Amino acid sequence: MKQQSRMVVKKFGGTSVGSIERIEAVAQRIFEDTQEGQRPIIVSSAMAGETNRLVSLARDINNTYRGPAYDMLLASGEQVSIALLAMAIEKRGLKAKPLLAYQLGIKTDSIFSKARIKSVDDKKILDLVDKNIIPIIAGFQGSTGLEITTLGRGGSDTTAVAIAAAIGAGECEIFTDVPAICSADPRLIKNVSEISKLSFEEMMEMASLGSKVLHFRCVELAAKYNVKIHLRSTFLKREGTWVVPKGECMENPVVSSVTHDASTAVIKLFPVPIGQSYLSKLFDLLSKKNIVIDIITQSQNEEGQRLAFSMQEDEVFLAEEVVKEVFDASVKVSIMRGMAKISTIGVGMKNHHGVASRFFKILNSLEIPIHLVTTSDIKISAVIERTHLQEAASGLHTEFGLDSEKQD
Ligand code: ASP
Ligand code: MG
Repeated sequence: MKQQSRMVVKKFGGTSVGSIERIEAVAQRIFEDTQEGQRPIIVSSAMAGETNRLVSLARDINNTYRGPAYDMLLASGEQVSIALLAMAIEKRGLKAKPLLAYQLGIKTDSIFSKARIKSVDDKKILDLVDKNIIPIIAGFQGSTGLEITTLGRGGSDTTAVAIAAAIGAGECEIFTDVPAICSADPRLIKNVSEISKLSFEEMMEMASLGSKVLHFRCVELAAKYNVKIHLRSTFLKREGTWVVPKGECMENPVVSSVTHDASTAVIKLFPVPIGQSYLSKLFDLLSKKNIVIDIITQSQNEEGQRLAFSMQEDEVFLAEEVVKEVFDASVKVSIMRGMAKISTIGVGMKNHHGVASRFFKILNSLEIPIHLVTTSDIKISAVIERTHLQEAASGLHTEFGLDSEKQD
């Protein structure tokens, strides 16, 4: 047990291993950690830009293909980075073993491109650590036993937390190119502030509403197995953001972040024949194609039924095919690409009223049309046109007192 308590799972993102110099720097940091008594277990993403490059190669051949060949292609980026990292670590006199998912035993279901981890062979990891060999594990990939699968873009975070959970580690370090999780995406607006602690619940909302800083499933797993996540910079030694159970962050503000998803699409349909049978048929077919539908709004009166729903923009062509199959020409279909979802999130919203009114006041004062809205007890989201995203985000960020030089 004593030995296990010194094991630390460390995940390095694409920019952290984006060049040979950076791989050397990561290897050096791992070496220093071992000198301080840690027993690191490493998970790595592909080198920065590599997975995007592979996606575009696939698109050049067949834009709509999803299946085993696609996952095999996308998973190859991590094979390169873990091999290089293992070599850089061995150069420093330590022992390291690069491991692909099938070698380690990261078993998943067979939903290609969106696979879920079913089990991790913790024994193999513990054996290596016992022999003073540093496991260098490929993130993002899994294995059905026969086929290579991938966990969805950004999935290396999930690999890391699944491993931490499997070996019973209480925390998992996620190293990235930003020093902390911020109150909004710093690439979208200036004046963002760093968040020192967030609850699993808030982080899950942020990840599902478009924040790319942590993969949604990784936070879901962390909450389930009580693994605290420490997101921090690869290039600085200081602490970043801790994602922890909500009892440990009672002091957070009403709204802790403004999150966006810039690649949303909306399909609006009118008039859908009255009754629920068409809805049932439509959503059944969409789910059979593994299309994840986000917001749904529906209403009906004597003129007919009105339906609108949103999804990721890169899946709208699949949804369009389904809609054509279910409805005839009497239903007017609007396919709206180029949309974005903007959200405010905070556990404090549970106990404070007036957040929705301030949210709409800002969008109204900026004259930004709203296409869909959804709320939960800790978030409010609206789908707007992407061209309005930046001004909506900065207006809301200021309204909720999140600017780093407070303008409240
Ligand atoms: N390399 C994969 C991606 O770019 C997985 C990850 O980085 O987490 O999505
Ligand atoms: Mg990531």
